[in-house]
Amino acid sequence: MKCPFCGAIDTQVIDSRVNEEGDSIRRRRRCPSCDKRFTTYETAELRMPQVVKQNGTREEFDRAKVRTSFMRALHKRPVPTEFVDQAIERIAQKVLSLGEREVPSRQMGEMVMHELYKLDKVAYIRFASVYRSFQDVDDFRDVIRDLDK
Ligand SMILES: [Zn+2]
Repeated sequence: MKCPFCGAIDTQVIDSRVNEEGDSIRRRRRCPSCDKRFTTYETAELRMPQVVKQNGTREEFDRAKVRTSFMRALHKRPVPTEFVDQAIERIAQKVLSLGEREVPSRQMGEMVMHELYKLDKVAYIRFASVYRSFQDVDDFRDVIRDLDK
């Protein structure tokens, strides 16, 4: 890391310790050029990315909204709430693990579709038909054919 005082390219880490909670590392650094010392902190950036919608607007990742998609597709289907919760959690984890600042809503839709596919085939077709807004019969046939795989 660059020295903030003289701009030298390289600085040495002379001490590094993890804080009590174990979620951040404090490093003491020394610049070999100007001999000044400074401290840096390293923490994991665990922030849900923004969801970028088709029209370019952005919104917070919202579990409640994801749940609404599931509930709409699963209306009157025999799927336990617990399974839905787990599916939503898997999506949240997947989105988080992408480590991106932004995720296209299309990608989120694919994740929901993937989970619905495992939960309930009828709900999957419902969601897919609205989500992909089938242009023609061929699109619909493709989705039905995918079910047989
Ligand atoms: Zn320096």
